[in-house]
Amino acid sequence: MRVTLLGTGFPRPNPKRRGPSQLVEARGDRFLVDCGSGVACQLVSIGVSPVDVHHVLITHHHSDHTIDLGHLLLTRWIMGQNAPLHVWGPSGTRQYVDDLLRLHDYDIEVRRHHQDQRPGPRVEVHEIAPGVIYESSQLRITAFLVEHFPVEPAFGFRFDGPERSVAISGDTRPCENLIAQCRGVDVLIHECTDVTKLPLNPGGGYPSREVQVARLASYHTLPDQVGKVAARAEAKTLVLSHLTHLSEPAELQRVVARDFGGKLIVGEDLMEV
Ligand SMILES: [Zn+2]
Ligand SMILES: [Zn+2]
Repeated sequence: MRVTLLGTGFPRPNPKRRGPSQLVEARGDRFLVDCGSGVACQLVSIGVSPVDVHHVLITHHHSDHTIDLGHLLLTRWIMGQNAPLHVWGPSGTRQYVDDLLRLHDYDIEVRRHHQDQRPGPRVEVHEIAPGVIYESSQLRITAFLVEHFPVEPAFGFRFDGPERSVAISGDTRPCENLIAQCRGVDVLIHECTDVTKLPLNPGGGYPSREVQVARLASYHTLPDQVGKVAARAEAKTLVLSHLTHLSEPAELQRVVARDFGGKLIVGEDLMEV
């Protein structure tokens, strides 16, 4: 099973860390997890055409994780793919996809006009519940609930293949269910949002920096928490993602290694883990 970090950033645009996205490939199976900003370009950067992506998993409906689903969907179709794109995600995914297609209705119609009136992009939506959501001879995918209130439901995903297992946290505060579901996983890709470093966002709706930190910390995992999560889950390798423009890899290594004795990787865009 090959896993590539396509985007290791968070909502703020950062050319060095694109929006959250990972690609999981297991022989015949290829799953894109989240569609952060720049995902189609990142796929091309690793030699995967959008035409060859047929399955997208959405962890939760925050825009930094879904913003380029529309770009991927339309580009894939413009490039000639008529097979459906399967989009797996929490409740609300069907509405999101319907709205997306409606938003781009004019574009789709004018393109069809000089493309022999071929049908528009096809999407098959699978709204998921916790448990096994996909199983083939090479891969089993389990969705599990994480804690990202007020975004509910929010999921993480565990991928079990014949050679190894990989879990992706999505966005969550430290979560007991994640620890239970990821027990003994070979690779845990976990969010690590250092909200204590972010300056006050003027106009962002926070009365003070302290309030901003407290509110963001209530639904994210901080650098001094993520090592404890991975240690309790007994993950063999921990990969940090969902990093800010102010995250410093050396500092993250130092802080997280206090609690986690396994292999620790600070994620970078286009890194295979
Ligand atoms: Zn996020
Ligand atoms: Zn989120």
